[in-house]
Amino acid sequence: MSELNAFLHTDLKPISPSPLDSLELARGNRSLEGMKVAIKDNIAVADWPLTAGSKILDGYISPYDATVITKLKRAGATLIGKTNLDEFAMGSSTETSAFGPALNPWDNTRVPGGSSGGSAAAVAAGLCDVALGSDTAGSIRQPAAFCGVTGLKPTYGSVSRYGLVALASSFDVIGAMAYKAEDVERVFAAMSGQDEFDQTTFSYKYKPEGVKVDGLKIGLPRELWELEIDPEIKKATQELVKFFVDRGAKISDVSLPSLPLALPAYYVILPAEASANLARFDGIRYKHSEPTETLLERYTKTRSVGFGAEVKRRILLGTFALSVGHYDAYYQQAVNVQRKIEQEHQEVFEKVDVLISPTTPSLPFKIGEKIDDPIEMYKSDLLTVGANLAGVPAISLPVGFSKSGLPIGAQIIAKRGSDNVVLDLAKIFQAETEHHNRRPEPSNHQ
Ligand code: GLN
Repeated sequence: MSELNAFLHTDLKPISPSPLDSLELARGNRSLEGMKVAIKDNIAVADWPLTAGSKILDGYISPYDATVITKLKRAGATLIGKTNLDEFAMGSSTETSAFGPALNPWDNTRVPGGSSGGSAAAVAAGLCDVALGSDTAGSIRQPAAFCGVTGLKPTYGSVSRYGLVALASSFDVIGAMAYKAEDVERVFAAMSGQDEFDQTTFSYKYKPEGVKVDGLKIGLPRELWELEIDPEIKKATQELVKFFVDRGAKISDVSLPSLPLALPAYYVILPAEASANLARFDGIRYKHSEPTETLLERYTKTRSVGFGAEVKRRILLGTFALSVGHYDAYYQQAVNVQRKIEQEHQEVFEKVDVLISPTTPSLPFKIGEKIDDPIEMYKSDLLTVGANLAGVPAISLPVGFSKSGLPIGAQIIAKRGSDNVVLDLAKIFQAETEHHNRRPEPSNHQ
């Protein structure tokens, strides 16, 4: 479809709706009729390939629809293809994809972010109206920021994970990306809600509420603003804050003292959960399988050949952190930190309505710049990971451009269940500003 490598599969079997889907479509409100939606390739669509960006699933065809896909189909959306991602959503640049990186439509020498980089690039280049992503530590918000689009990481449990290839089940959530917050909202409204196939979902019905900016209490989390952040990003985010202050919002400095521990805690819990979730890829149940003499050889060879370096690194880290003698020192400690962060968010939202911070510490970086330095890559999540540990909703929206013409995103975070608040604030900002209306040069992506 383009040079961007944003899509892994476009030449797909046409979707034939099940009789129940057709009935529901006929009965339904068709809220997504005419909308072209791209799907991150870690979300199952019946009869379409599902690779999760990994060689180990190359050639695998999903036998069923994820719950979000069933809901999108029943609302009349047109699904147009599966987008590129970091392998099993581990990464911040799409460079760990077994199928090569996606490129940033604003500058083809730079990454689109990750792990939902293909989705963000597809939206930015105008190849679809909306794209689904998944966010475990920032994988929707960071690529949205890098590609100049709006991306929502919903409240944990408000959207079903059934049919999402699991990374860390306690943080994973499916969300949408589009240029306009309004389109993100339409898709979120259609796909959220309790699901009998995912016991972590709760009864949630999205309602826009008409949030008022006059009197809104905005907290600026000290621990995030004090990080080393590109000055142009800081300035553009301050302008977002000023926009609300000019319209009657009140700002205050707030503190979430455990936030500096969020990233280290995440990089213990995530590998622990991921190593358990990835155990199912054994060369028997899924596609890729190496011919060997014994069963044990089959397991080891399939996994050695099928998984890339980042995935192997995390399986090693995770099994180590969970092993006898290390469990208390690493995993249990990290879970304690997570609980503390969750609690500090609950407390801060008794004082303020929303938190605002930049989405990323840096502008979109060059392809190849960070891929050989995992710690540098992990730091891409510094500003976004807290919302995942706390399970709260967060939106990244375009707030400007660098002098070099690269997009800048800022993040609005609210308490659990207040997805409507972050969406409303993004819509209010976008109704009066133009950042989300700027497009990359078509020559960059044709
Ligand atoms: N950078 C994070 C990681 O590699 C992103 C994960 C995610 O949100 N899917 O784990």
